[in-house]
Amino acid sequence: MNAITMPSSRAYKILDHTYDVIVVGAGGSGLRAALGMGASGFSTACITKVFPTRSHTVAAQGGIGAALGNMGEDDWRWHMYDTVKGSDWLGDQDAIEYMCREAIPAIYELERYGVPFSRTEDGLIYQRPFGGHMTEYGKEPAVRACAAADRTGHAILHTLYQQSLKHGTEFFVEYFVLDLIVDHEGICRGVVAWNLEDGSMHRFRAQRVVIATGGYGRAYLSCTSAHTCTGDGTGMVLRAGLPVQDMEFVQFHPTGIFPAGCLITEGARGEGGYLTNRDGERFMERYAPTAKDLASRDVVSRSMTLEINAGRGCGPAKDYIMLHLEHLGSDLLVERLPGISETARVFAGVDVTKDPIPVLPTVHYNMGGIPTNIYAEVLRPAHDNPDAVIPGLMAVGEAACVSVHGANRLGTNSLLDLVVFGRAAAHRVSKTIRPGAVQSPLPPKAGEASLDRFDHARYAKGGTRVAELRLAMQRSMQSHAAVFRDASSLTEGVEKMREIWTGMADMSVKDRSLIWNSDLMEALELSNLISNAMTTMVGAEARSESRGAHAHDDYPDRDDQTWMKHTLAWCDKSGKVKLDYRPVKMRTLTNEVSVFPPKKRVY
Ligand code: FAD
Repeated sequence: MNAITMPSSRAYKILDHTYDVIVVGAGGSGLRAALGMGASGFSTACITKVFPTRSHTVAAQGGIGAALGNMGEDDWRWHMYDTVKGSDWLGDQDAIEYMCREAIPAIYELERYGVPFSRTEDGLIYQRPFGGHMTEYGKEPAVRACAAADRTGHAILHTLYQQSLKHGTEFFVEYFVLDLIVDHEGICRGVVAWNLEDGSMHRFRAQRVVIATGGYGRAYLSCTSAHTCTGDGTGMVLRAGLPVQDMEFVQFHPTGIFPAGCLITEGARGEGGYLTNRDGERFMERYAPTAKDLASRDVVSRSMTLEINAGRGCGPAKDYIMLHLEHLGSDLLVERLPGISETARVFAGVDVTKDPIPVLPTVHYNMGGIPTNIYAEVLRPAHDNPDAVIPGLMAVGEAACVSVHGANRLGTNSLLDLVVFGRAAAHRVSKTIRPGAVQSPLPPKAGEASLDRFDHARYAKGGTRVAELRLAMQRSMQSHAAVFRDASSLTEGVEKMREIWTGMADMSVKDRSLIWNSDLMEALELSNLISNAMTTMVGAEARSESRGAHAHDDYPDRDDQTWMKHTLAWCDKSGKVKLDYRPVKMRTLTNEVSVFPPKKRVY
């Protein structure tokens, strides 16, 4: 590390660092990118607000998708078809082709790195069925999710962290990145970060900045996401005047434990679990006659909500559904689903070997994010050149939108997205820059606006606590950008979000300390969450159709004529959102597969 302390008129020290590459975020995507950069000889700094192995990826349970065919015939082209169909034809087909083809070498690479996958009797990587994954272009459920029991994310994250250390990544742990540094030519040159431990400020300069900050589930009241999922990367991008893409598509996972919201993996249904209503009926057979309980997540979440709305929910208030695993037997539950058995015991007081688990759809994943190409380079929206990129800036993982998930992500495709595009980012860097290349000095006032913003938040003397503003935002998102949406509720949601945005001016931060100041940190996180929330609500209000996770009561059909396009959303300082659109990429990269034209989506 080559840190230089800069003279500062502010209350804190400012230190300057230079690396070839900076990765912001140490989840699965950030670590996969960082280790690849290190392995190619680039000096790499990975900056993270939590210790790497506490990143949200650690919570991923059920598996990572790849058509290995270890437990039945499979083909990456079937995986590609399922992903296009799962995306409700909003995913870019070149990116989906790339991900599903590269899935196979990426998984074997993980195996070589040391991921302790569960095994078949023949010693192959164990695989299980997952929602929306089928064989032969939609015929029968496929067995495609490569699993390490129900702790797949934990296994992958720990392995990638060890590999990153091996390849010389320098970690800046418990540093909170505030903003990007973008020069007057629009080139991303680095980031500004706050060291939570000693209160110092840091400017990191690099040839490439990779954003890997994860999703923004915490914009909602009930979600499966960690408290760290505050959309910081997307917030930084919006503040830099760049757009985010397809934010209106928010995935509700069917089986969040009622009422705590913790996740029961879809792998539980992959192993044979099923859902019932208050009459004990396996209602998914009515909604998805072929895939049944293993239909795509948006389909299962909507079916559950319809059952509850029809008065067929369970419990005294008829407001949840039952997930049955008890028939699977304790041997299987102990071997394949130990983590969720414990989660059900702790959060629902249920012994899964004896009783069903009460569940309800819960916010789980953000399909939208920072638009990138398949090399993880951030796209610069230009109608005359759809492939133009922002020099110096890359994004991977849940913070990015490649777009491989379109309007609805299939289970197991996020972990896959992390490793395939984290790896792609490293490949791209090794092809486009040189280790140790001389970098021009940062512009004289680089990072000043960000430090002003920090100081402003630190001295916020209004009358409304951060927690009150956050709760108002979370409540509005939960009720107005929900599983089912309609025009009047979305319009009301936009108005409420505007009020909350205006209310941010009255924010109060009581603690002025520079060290371990969670009050200030939450204020800064809220400033990121709210721009994510605002672009989600406005994008949803504008989209007058139903597609994937965006189920609009007033427009119940998909409208390919008008709406088969990605939403781009900018959000200015006053919270005003500007929308534009770009076409879905209906092209493939090779002639090994042809484009899948849109058709009705049934399971
Ligand atoms: P994260 O793992 O969220 O990491 C983000 C990183 O960014 C962290 O290191 C954080 O410290 C850092 N960061 C954020 N903001 C800042 C900042 N301002 N400054 C510095 N650092 C910052 N997907 C699957 O494919 N299969 C599954 O079985 C599966 N199971 C899941 C189970 C649960 C309970 C949940 C909630 C999700 C599951 N998912 C699964 C989804 C998947 O886990 C996530 O989409 C994925 O892990 C996100 O990884 P990431 O690398 O993008 O971000």
